[in-house]
Amino acid sequence: MAKVGLREWLAIGGVIASGRLARYGGPGEGPLDRFEKAFAEKFGVKHVLTVSSGTGALISALAASGVGPGDEVLVPAYTWIATAASVLAVGAVPVIVDIDETLTMDPEDIARRITPRTRAILPVHMANMVCDMEAITTLARQNGLMVIEDACQAVGVRYRGQRVGTIGDIGAFSFNQFKNINIGEGGAVASQSDRFFARARMYHDVGELFRGHLDNYNEPSFFGVNFKASQIQGAMLNVQLGKLDPMLRRMRRRHQVMSHILSGSDAFRLGSHNDPQNAVGLHVLFETEGEAKAFAARNRRGVYRVFDSSRHVCTHWTPILEKRAFHPAMNPYGWASADVEYGPDMCARSLDILKRTCRISIGENYPTALMAYLARRMAGRKTPERRFSYAA
Ligand SMILES: *Cc1c(COP(=O)(O)O)cnc(C)c1O
Repeated sequence: MAKVGLREWLAIGGVIASGRLARYGGPGEGPLDRFEKAFAEKFGVKHVLTVSSGTGALISALAASGVGPGDEVLVPAYTWIATAASVLAVGAVPVIVDIDETLTMDPEDIARRITPRTRAILPVHMANMVCDMEAITTLARQNGLMVIEDACQAVGVRYRGQRVGTIGDIGAFSFNQFKNINIGEGGAVASQSDRFFARARMYHDVGELFRGHLDNYNEPSFFGVNFKASQIQGAMLNVQLGKLDPMLRRMRRRHQVMSHILSGSDAFRLGSHNDPQNAVGLHVLFETEGEAKAFAARNRRGVYRVFDSSRHVCTHWTPILEKRAFHPAMNPYGWASADVEYGPDMCARSLDILKRTCRISIGENYPTALMAYLARRMAGRKTPERRFSYAA
């Protein structure tokens, strides 16, 4: 995550002094307009809409693409619960798909879970690990499905040259404190489609019809909610966007150095990656759960067993597994054309992989030499007795 500091503080001060804090209503361009233009240019995408969170971005993206009651949407077994909950928020039901050793959706399992009711695939680029977008977009094309990307945990990361979140029909990003661009809370929707953009904007702003200056590409307006971002978020985003690529370069450099060292160990194997040339996320796989546990216990600094981050594992999404909505009459499971089963075996393969996998922090805010030293220790190599300072 990029650090937040003095420059964000000064940028917010400017917004407060200007008196223009709300999304709409001021004269000319505001910080949010400037951010959306700069993000669209950097990411090579036609339209960007800032919203109040990544969850708001996912819900707006799903609403924009017309997903609704009776539809099934494929989501991975390993993701933040918001991915699956967003599908329910638009009245559709999530169908859980296994991950493979890349920690992202397994295209073979996607193919197995497609039914006549499937409307969209929702691949999640987890922990800066990119999905197999070629296989996913091919499957989507063959089966007439939409691809809605959850790029919340991989803002700025590339898959074969393209930034994730801009490859499918529509993409969602989060700018929450623990994501690559950090403004506390925030999100964005990106799409090449005029229609999806206009619909996402209508959904995110219930008052859209009163904002005569917006071009809606002839889309009839429908009622929405309020997921609007404030200009304070916009001011922070402009500063953070400038920090994104330098941070990704630091991650890439550390990934190269550390993965080279770790690949020399015979205690584990490096996790595979859907685009090794651009990889910035690092994980290792063990033969057994016990070995992964022992490794995580031995290397407390920057290492954890993925299964222990249990909130990201589908077997812990209790209200979804128990199909409980805020109101019984507003329960999408009651509108589904076929029962969706969430049995204990629904993601056995994912659980097996997650239990044997440890994620390793890339330490982008620490010196590369320190990260190389830690990697040598993890790999069990003899290292010269030298102390490194933790100062950046
Ligand atoms: C963080 C996250 C979200 C939701 O983002 P918020 O900004 O917290 O609402 C969605 N999906 C994934 C994979 C995430 O990590």
